Amino acid sequence: MVKETIRVYARVKPLGRRQQAGSYSVDDEEDLLSSLEITVPRDLADGFVNNKRETYKFKFQKIFDQEAKQDVIFDSIAKPVAECVLAGYNGTIFAYGQTGSGKTFTITGGAERYSDRGIIPRTLSYIFDQLQKDSSKVYTTHVSYLEIYNECGYDLLDPRHEASRLEDLPKVTIMEDSDQNIHLKNLSLQQATNEEEALNLLFLGDTNRMIAETPMNQASSRSHCIFTVHVSSKEPGSATIRRSKLHLVDLAGSERVAKTGVGGHLLTEAKYINLSLHYLEQVIIALAEKNRSHIPYRNSMMTSVLRDSLGGNCMTTMIATLSIDKRNIDESISTCRFAQRVALIKNEAVLNEEIDPRLMIVQLKKEIQDLKDELELVTGKQRTSELSQEELLQLDELIEMFLKDKDPDSTLDVGADMRKIKYCFIHMKQLMNHPTISDKKLLSQNISEEEDSNKESGEELEKLKDLLQQRDNEINILVNMLKKEKKKAQDALFQLNASSACSTVLEQSLSINLEDRQSPSNCFSLKGAKDFSSSVHRLPFLSRQTGGKMSLGCQEAFEVFKRDHADSITIEDNKQLLKQRFAEVKCLGEKLNEVRSKINCLKGEITQRHIQRAALAVSSPSEELNMFDPVEEKLRMQIEEEKKSYKTMFNRFKGLKVEIEHLQLLMEKVKMKMQKDFEVWWSEEAKNLQEKPEMVTSPNTVTVYPQFIKSLQHLSTNSFSEITRVSPNEDPPGKNNSITFSNPTLKTRTPQSSSTSIPLTGDSQADADILAFMKARQRILQRKGLENK
Ligand code: ADP
Ligand code: MG
Repeated sequence: MVKETIRVYARVKPLGRRQQAGSYSVDDEEDLLSSLEITVPRDLADGFVNNKRETYKFKFQKIFDQEAKQDVIFDSIAKPVAECVLAGYNGTIFAYGQTGSGKTFTITGGAERYSDRGIIPRTLSYIFDQLQKDSSKVYTTHVSYLEIYNECGYDLLDPRHEASRLEDLPKVTIMEDSDQNIHLKNLSLQQATNEEEALNLLFLGDTNRMIAETPMNQASSRSHCIFTVHVSSKEPGSATIRRSKLHLVDLAGSERVAKTGVGGHLLTEAKYINLSLHYLEQVIIALAEKNRSHIPYRNSMMTSVLRDSLGGNCMTTMIATLSIDKRNIDESISTCRFAQRVALIKNEAVLNEEIDPRLMIVQLKKEIQDLKDELELVTGKQRTSELSQEELLQLDELIEMFLKDKDPDSTLDVGADMRKIKYCFIHMKQLMNHPTISDKKLLSQNISEEEDSNKESGEELEKLKDLLQQRDNEINILVNMLKKEKKKAQDALFQLNASSACSTVLEQSLSINLEDRQSPSNCFSLKGAKDFSSSVHRLPFLSRQTGGKMSLGCQEAFEVFKRDHADSITIEDNKQLLKQRFAEVKCLGEKLNEVRSKINCLKGEITQRHIQRAALAVSSPSEELNMFDPVEEKLRMQIEEEKKSYKTMFNRFKGLKVEIEHLQLLMEKVKMKMQKDFEVWWSEEAKNLQEKPEMVTSPNTVTVYPQFIKSLQHLSTNSFSEITRVSPNEDPPGKNNSITFSNPTLKTRTPQSSSTSIPLTGDSQADADILAFMKARQRILQRKGLENK
C-alpha cells in the first residue's frame, strides 16, 4: 500500500504574440517544492486606481514554465504514474485550468507536430514498450474513452463514425453495486494489443469528439474527457491477476460563468460545467478536511467516475494549467488556489490483485491429473474415479464374509484403494442403520405382498371398530339423555299430583300436545327421527369429525341440548328484539320516504310560486319582484320543519341499523358458543361411556321410573286406557312395536322393579299420540318446575 498526497504540478502556457505577461515568478528549488508567485498589478482593478499591490504565493510539486516541452512534461509527470499502473496500482492524471490554458495540449497534445504529442500518446507508447520488454508476465490492455457533457456520459469509442452530434453517441450511465463500486454501463472497453491499435482508438475517440462538436456546442472546452487504459497482468501459471487503471482526464474549462459572457443555452452549459467542477471542488474540500465521513461523490457523474482517483485507491496527479497573461491573472490565481487544496488530499493506493476462479480451476485440474499419473506409476494400475460393477460385487462378498466370520482376528482387506475403503464404510453404515433391509432381501416378494394385504385388512377392521364404538357412544348418550328427560318429567308429575289444579294443566297440556304433534320436529317419536333431522343445523365440528355426515342421534341430541342450554333464552330474547327492531326500521324507512317526498312537494310548490311571480312581473312590471312573499316564507318554514323531523328520524334509523347489526353478531356468537358447548359435552359423554361400559344398555331399551308410569296412569287412565301395565318378565304383545324404559340407577336401588315397558298399540296414530302426549306433558311440567323455582 502506498499512501501519499496527490501530486500537484503547474504548467504555464507560452504567451501569444500580442499577449502581455502578468507579473509572476517561479522559484524552482531542487528536492523541494517549487513556488509560484503571482503579483496583481495596480492597473488591473477595472480602471480604478488601485494602490494595493497584492502578491500570491503557491507551492507546487514542480512548475513547468512556458518553455517546457511535452517530452519533459511526460517524463516528469506521467511516466511515474504509468510505472505505478504497470506495477498494478491505479493512476490518474488530470489537467485543470481555464479554457485555452493548455489542458488539451497537455493531455492529448497539439495537432501539428509530432513533438507536440501529449501525455496520452506518450503514455501509450511507453506502456506498450514496457509490456514488450517484460516477458515475465502476460499483459492484456484495453482502452475506453468517455466524454461527460451536461451530466451525461458518452462513449467516444463508438466505431460507427455516424455521430454528427454528441447525442448520437452511445449514452453511458453509472451503476453502483452493493459494495459501492462504480460501473459504467454502455462504455465500451476496446482491447488494444499494441501501441498502434491503442493510438487508433485514441484517434477514433478524438474524431468522434470533434465531429460531435458544433460551433454552438464547443464540447472540447465545456465537457470532461476521460481516456482510460486498463492493464491486467498475470504471471504464467499463476491464478493471481493484477488489474489497474490509468485515467487521463481533460477537464472542462474552470473559468467562471460571468467571464464567458454568454447567455441562453451556452449559459446553461457553463452552469453545468461549473456545477460539476463545483462538485469536484466540494469533494476535494471534503477530502482535505480531517475526520470527514461523508464525501459527496454522488453529486455529479464526473466525481462518481473519478471516485477512486480522489481520496481512494489511486496514485493521482494534477496539472494546473495557467494562462498567465495579464487578463487571466485572476483565473490563474483561482486555479492555483484549487490546486493548493487538492495537494492536501491523501490517497491510499493498493495493489489490485485478485484470484481468477477459472484459472484456479484449471490449475487444480492439472494438479489432480498429475497426482493421478503419479499414482498410476506407483501402483501400476489404471484408476477411474468410480468402482466397476464387478469390483462392487466383490466388495459386497468380502464384507459379508467378514461380518459372518466368528473369528475375532479376522480382517477386511480391500487393498490400498481409498475408493474401496470408503465403499466398505458406507456399506457397513447402511447395514447398521437398516439391518432389516438386508434380512428382507432373503424373504420372497410374495411374503411381503401378503403382509401388505394383511395390514390393509387390519386397518380396515380397526376403522370399522372405531366407527362401531362411535355409534355405540352416540346411542348411549341419547339413552342417558332420555333417562334424564323422563326423570324430570316424573319429578314434575309428582309435583303436579300435589297440585290442585292438575286437571286444568292436563287439559292445557293436551291441547298443546295436539298442536305440537303437527310439527314433526317437536314430535317425540322414533319414526319421526328422520324429519327431526331436517330442523337441525349442521354442526361444523361434529360434521368434520364424522366426515361431513352427522348421525341422526347426534342431531337429535343437539336439538335437546339446544333447548336446555342456558343461552337458548338469550337467543330467543334476541330474536324477539331483532324482530321488533326490524319492524321499527321498516316503519321508520317508510316514514322517512314520506317526509322526503313531502319536502320535494314543498320545494316544487316554491318553484311554482317563483314562475308565477315571474310571469306576473312580465305582465305588470309595476309589481315588485323582490317583494316579500309570505306564502313562500311559510313554505320554507314548513320545509325546515320537515327537514328537522327527517333528521331526527334518520338518526334513529341509523342507530337502529347499528343495533340490528350488533344483535345479529351477538346471536351468531351465542350460536357458535352453543355448538361448541355441545361438541364438548358430546365428546365428554362419549368418553364417560367408554370408561363405564357397565352403564351401557341396549339401544332400544329406555329405562324409566316405574313411578312415572304409575302417575301417568293415574293421571290419564281415561284418556289412555289402551296403555296397560305389563310385568318385565311377561312377553308383551306387539313386542316389535314396544319401547322399553329402564333406568340403571333405579335398577340398583329397586332391583325388583327394574324396568317397566309401555307397550304400544301397534296403531301408528295412537302410538304417536301417546308419545306426543308424554313429551308435551314433560315439557309443561318442566316449565312449571322452572316457575316454582
Ligand atoms: P484548453 O484545452 O485548456 O482549452 P488548449 O490545450 O486547447 O486549451 O490550448 C489552447 C491553444 O493553445 C491551442 O492552440 C494549443 O495548441 C495552444 N497551447 C496550449 N499550451 C501550449 C504549449 N505549452 N505550447 C504551445 N502551444 C500551446
Ligand atoms: Mg481543451
